[in-house]
Order: sequence, then C-alpha cells, then structure tokens
Amino acid sequence: MEIACLDLEGVLIPEVWINFADRTGIEALKATTRDIPDYDQLMTQRLAILRENGLGLGDIQTVIDGMDPLPGASDALDWLRERFQVVILSDTFYEFAEPFMRKLGWPTILCHKLQIDHAGMITDYKIRQPDPKRASVKAFHSLKFRTIATGDSYNDTTMLAEADAGILFCPPQNVIDEFPQFPVATSYEALQAEFAKASLRDL
Ligand SMILES: [Mg+2]
Repeated sequence: MEIACLDLEGVLIPEVWINFADRTGIEALKATTRDIPDYDQLMTQRLAILRENGLGLGDIQTVIDGMDPLPGASDALDWLRERFQVVILSDTFYEFAEPFMRKLGWPTILCHKLQIDHAGMITDYKIRQPDPKRASVKAFHSLKFRTIATGDSYNDTTMLAEADAGILFCPPQNVIDEFPQFPVATSYEALQAEFAKASLRDL
C-alpha cells in the first residue's frame, strides 16, 4: 500500500503569509521558508511582527477565508485520493488550514497548533515534533506503507529524502540547484505523471 504525502502551501494552496502581507501591506511578513530555512526563527519573527502591528488570529482568518486553493488543486487532490491514501504534511497550523480543508473536502492533515490568548492574539505556537514531515514518513514506513512525497521548499527536503520517492513541485531555482536528486514537476499533470512513475503499481 502506498501513501502520498503532500506539502500544503505552494502545492495545493497559495502561501498564506504572503497573501496576508499583501492585504496588510506589511512587507516583512512575506518571508517564508524559501527565504529563512530555519522555521523557528521564521515563526518567531512573524509573531513579533503581528504583535507590533496589533494583529490577531481573527485578522488572519478573515484574509484566509477569502483565499482559494490553487487552480486545479482540488482535481489534482481527487486524482491522488483515488489512487493512494493521501496525507497532507504541513508546517502550517490547524487554525490557518481549516478554511482550505473545507474547500478541499477535509483531507487528512498533520500540522501544528497555535496558542491564542483571550483577546485573540497569537501568543505562541506548538510544533508537534522536530522535523515533523520526515518523522511522519518514518512513522508510515514503520506501519509498512510505501511513501511518495511532494513539496516545493526547503522544509520539504528531509521528507522527500526519507520517502521512497520524492518529487519537487514548482520549487524556486535555488531549491532545484541544491537538490538535483529530486525530479521536478511544474504542473499538476506533470506531478501526476511523476506519481505514476514512482508508484509500484500501474496507474
Ligand atoms: Mg510549501
């Protein structure tokens, strides 16, 4: 049995923080794991900027409610779900992901949780475990599942390496250059072809 492990932002949905930065005009919030590979450093910076600007979870969720999955994402996800068990492995938070999960038909997602105070301000965040995407793939292996993983960024590369097959989806050039061992798909059609190639079954 094979599990398809999908990154969320950059694969099925747009980058939440970049869209939030556009709406609020706060340029510093545009940094992602593409710019700062250390996720703790990145999140600490984001929370500090939100505090400085008096922005809480409600402000962020208002923006997220107005965002849609990437064009074609829903069909691509359905294609995979007909052929694999699909699990989304994301470094986002359940509070941010929920509106998208509703639009995508509630796929399984393993991600992180925010801590919110009475005023609705984000006070902290709870990372489920270190290197969670890779740890999830290892766990699936311990359950005797074969895994095929895809993601677009630095924070996916340990997952791609741990999986039986790893595929980069629309990555930036620096990730392509640093990780030439992974095939690159730049459309959902190409991604499906890579999954078909990586699968042990005839799809
Ligand atoms: Mg991503």
